[in-house]
Amino acid sequence: MKILTSIIGFCLLVSTALAQDRATYAPVPEHISAPSGGAPPSDAIVLFDGSGLDAWSRTADGEAARWRIDGDAMTVERGMGTIRSKQNFGDMQLHVEWRPSDVIEGSGQSRGNSGVFLHGLFELQVLDSWDNDTYVNGQAASIYLQEAPRVNVARAPGQWQSYDIIFTAPKWQGDELLSPAYLTVLHNGVLVHNHVEIQGSTFTPQPEYRAHCGLYSSEERLQDCTDKLPIILQDHGQVVSFRNIWVREL
Ligand code: MG
Repeated sequence: MKILTSIIGFCLLVSTALAQDRATYAPVPEHISAPSGGAPPSDAIVLFDGSGLDAWSRTADGEAARWRIDGDAMTVERGMGTIRSKQNFGDMQLHVEWRPSDVIEGSGQSRGNSGVFLHGLFELQVLDSWDNDTYVNGQAASIYLQEAPRVNVARAPGQWQSYDIIFTAPKWQGDELLSPAYLTVLHNGVLVHNHVEIQGSTFTPQPEYRAHCGLYSSEERLQDCTDKLPIILQDHGQVVSFRNIWVREL
């Protein structure tokens, strides 16, 4: 018995020594504050917190964004225009909260439709998908016309919802695409896409990757699309509000 105890003790000493051999002490991860009560983590780039639309401009003409601000929310109504972030981003973590109007007008794609366009090209659909039939790769949290969400986590109209998005940007070497974009999404805290490959722009008639493309346009392919690009929020003609939008570059 004494011999067995000694052997076990020796083995524990060896395994501890091996573990310590693999332990690393640098670099030490930066300590940041966790998101709390609607406040973003301390290392986030805040794109909208209710204080103004300075981080956004109108996609069509670059003029000032004109969405309506009420408290900590901004709201798009028909004709206010699709907007884009002034800052461009590559790989990122993006948090967006959104709320379709509690006044139900229209159905299918005409009910609470907006969208979060990653890289200005790939639409993560915003739609009131509470008891609202439409094609599944066009419902809330779909990668538009490419991938339905794994589940429908939609809340009732008028309630705030959230997207937490991990976006891996496409990688280019000159005009050659080295790797496509990937998307991981949590809708209201529930995983709906897990590192899904994006087939290409969702706005064009067919999905496509182009080194020169049009942001929110299938016509004007003037933009260099091989580097960082903006986030776009869509005016689809319905009333949808957004709040608490922040990014962490990866
Ligand atoms: Mg949309």
